[in-house]
Amino acid sequence: MRSLSNRVLWLAGLLLAAGCAAPGLAPGSPEATEPDTLRVVTTVSPITNLVYNIAGDRAAIVGIVPEGVNSHTYEPAPSDVRQLADADLIFINGLKLEEPVLRLAEANAGEQSEIVLLGDQTITPEAYVYDFSFPLEAGSPNPHLWPNPFYALRYAEIVRDKLSERDPQHAEYYAANYALVAERIEALDGAIRATVESIPPENRKLLTYHDSWAYFAPVYGMTVVGAIQPSDFAEPSARELAALIDQLKAEQVPAIFGSEVFPSTVLEQIARETGASYVDDLRDDDLPGQPGDDLHSYFGLMAANLRTMAAALGGDPTILDTFDTRNIPGTDSRVEQSQ
Ligand SMILES: [Zn+2]
Repeated sequence: MRSLSNRVLWLAGLLLAAGCAAPGLAPGSPEATEPDTLRVVTTVSPITNLVYNIAGDRAAIVGIVPEGVNSHTYEPAPSDVRQLADADLIFINGLKLEEPVLRLAEANAGEQSEIVLLGDQTITPEAYVYDFSFPLEAGSPNPHLWPNPFYALRYAEIVRDKLSERDPQHAEYYAANYALVAERIEALDGAIRATVESIPPENRKLLTYHDSWAYFAPVYGMTVVGAIQPSDFAEPSARELAALIDQLKAEQVPAIFGSEVFPSTVLEQIARETGASYVDDLRDDDLPGQPGDDLHSYFGLMAANLRTMAAALGGDPTILDTFDTRNIPGTDSRVEQSQ
């Protein structure tokens, strides 16, 4: 097996042998990879990270929705057109999360490009949740499937199958990574269950600003009692706010959760008027830490969110401390050995 850096050296050697320089080639950039390396475009960072956990460095992966921005309203940049046109595989959440990206992909996809809607291949319309920020009358289901670890695993499975189809030479590598992702999801599931169990039953309630826990809560015995953000992503009206405050007082919710990506002043007002504590660092698609950090992964995202919930709702946030949040590629020798 050749490592990425070996392959880059190999490519640089070829170019030198051919008598030309390699201007602007940076290791790890799509241009610096072997000609037969799959080009993969993704959207939000949890999906980008799940794809990386299956593909490792066998694919050149470009996530086009920057971290920490509103993925629901993200307008792709003109430079994304080239990435989409050149891509072999375009993994999109679907369920109407990234409509502008999907439209741009459909308009610009090259002949070799395949657009894969992960969410649409994970659940059927019968399982769609329409709720607070995603009401039935607005026509778009809640698209946040990945906070449910088993849906995330299904995403990984679809990614494995698509990569293997397009790059059968490395199918074993993708399968080995997938098996380890599945193990890790099992461990994550156990850690989440134990963490939720540590929260007093009457506190297992989520009142969030951004409505991203609809497919997580029912699996783990939590209830999403409300989401504050209206379906148009504006701030709630005074009337909606008053109704929410009444509801929260009645439900005795101990904490309300804001989001890193959607700072909102109304949450502070709600907290003041209801006596709930206000926690502002829940994140639905914004990976914690910086690229390269152990916790900068889908696994780290889930662990961070569960810690935040447990700390605010009277549970034990330390249960997650033993959960491994590192990315699979490069951390597990069993994958390397399978080559
Ligand atoms: Zn979202």
